[in-house]
Amino acid sequence: MDFAIPGTDALGQPRIGSIYDKVGTPDTNYQETGPSHCEDCLHKVSSDAPYCIHPKVVADDKLQDRLVMVDDRPTIKIDLEKGWCAYFRRGKEDHE
Ligand code: SF4
Repeated sequence: MDFAIPGTDALGQPRIGSIYDKVGTPDTNYQETGPSHCEDCLHKVSSDAPYCIHPKVVADDKLQDRLVMVDDRPTIKIDLEKGWCAYFRRGKEDHE
């Protein structure tokens, strides 16, 4: 989104969109800007594995170059230390 406050052009104010633009992917807001949430999120093949199994993340158009099969299950390679997304859910349980 990119818009300016009407009538403020002469003031040289920054465009509001430049302040609030998302840096994550459009589908899930996945980004690697830290602080980490992926390492604390339960949507992984196991608590210490950098592979996300959340269906929205696996289907994220912008992450398809990270698609990895783990035990015949589609996953997305993530950054445990800096990654996070809109579907974070705290938990350390392993998905067996
Ligand atoms: S925070 Fe998002 S990308 Fe990271 S493991 Fe959880 S669901 Fe996957």
